[in-house]
Amino acid sequence: MSLDLSVVIPLYNEEESLPELVEWIERVCTEHKLSHEIIMIDDGSTDDSWKVVEELARDHQSVKGIKFQRNYGKSPALHEGFKAAMGNVVITMDADLQDSPDEIPELYSMIMTDGYDLVSGWKKVRYDNAVTKNLPSKLYNGVNRRLTGIKLHDMNCGLKSYKRKVVKSIEVYGEMHRFIPVLAKYAGFKKIGEKVVQHRPRKYGSSKFGWERFINGFLDLLSIQFVSRFGKKPMHLFGALGSFTFLLGFFFTASLIIDKIRLGADFGITNKPAFYLSLLAMMMGTLFFLTGFIAELITRNAADRNVYLMDEKIGWEN
Ligand code: UDP
Ligand code: MG
Repeated sequence: MSLDLSVVIPLYNEEESLPELVEWIERVCTEHKLSHEIIMIDDGSTDDSWKVVEELARDHQSVKGIKFQRNYGKSPALHEGFKAAMGNVVITMDADLQDSPDEIPELYSMIMTDGYDLVSGWKKVRYDNAVTKNLPSKLYNGVNRRLTGIKLHDMNCGLKSYKRKVVKSIEVYGEMHRFIPVLAKYAGFKKIGEKVVQHRPRKYGSSKFGWERFINGFLDLLSIQFVSRFGKKPMHLFGALGSFTFLLGFFFTASLIIDKIRLGADFGITNKPAFYLSLLAMMMGTLFFLTGFIAELITRNAADRNVYLMDEKIGWEN
């Protein structure tokens, strides 16, 4: 069965907003004649969210639910939603009514008509705390743009739309939901766009992410850069670093030895800071190398070491 649209909604303790959210999505989709499914992933809520999802699934044919046994996080919830999604276009949306379902038709047509692979919402006007969220978020998005080369103002907006192929090609894990456009880019999807979307204050409940998001986000960004560039050839990074550091130490040591030979007993090698620095550099170099070898052994054993995403194939029997 092919559907126009899958709306994927991760939720954690959002019982109050769900009925309103589903009604609203239904209204918009019916009005625009979009055949659709609403996939709600209850990420181990401790309130009555799941009961509400059950009721909604009973009343609406389009509503489907998945309930985690415990709270895993937004990324695992999205992962399961993406796995289940059947629509030609997949739209993700937060459950807290901060994203407006009125954006759905436009996000849909940007994928289907304008040919985007991924469109990310941009909360140009935000209704969140200015100091703890908006300002750090601006800074963070700036760093992101520089490091990844993806020109988005609001990488981590929960409201996004995708071609189905995109969500089936990427693997969101850990807390990588902040970097889905980066994952998509590295999977080979080039047409990544942006749409200014309305943002609304949180009506019920409270935010599930605190300030740690920025530290975790930055570390994840470094990991993602490392894995995408060197994940299949770690020695290229560690080997280069190792050789450089080791050689630096080696030349310092050599020059100390030459001085010793030239100056004889007057030259006390162990009195020189360069001696300790060069020892340190040689040791660090060796460690980098060993790390590189171990990383190579690990990648060699990775189940996906020879998995490549194919765009198309022609002339092959099934
Ligand atoms: N969420 C989730 N699992 C979590 C934390 C959050 O599924 O462990 C959901 C949450 O219910 C909401 C969305 O992720 O639908 C975004 O969370 P929130 O609104 O708290 O983030 P903010 O808007 O403050 O960035
Ligand atoms: Mg929110």
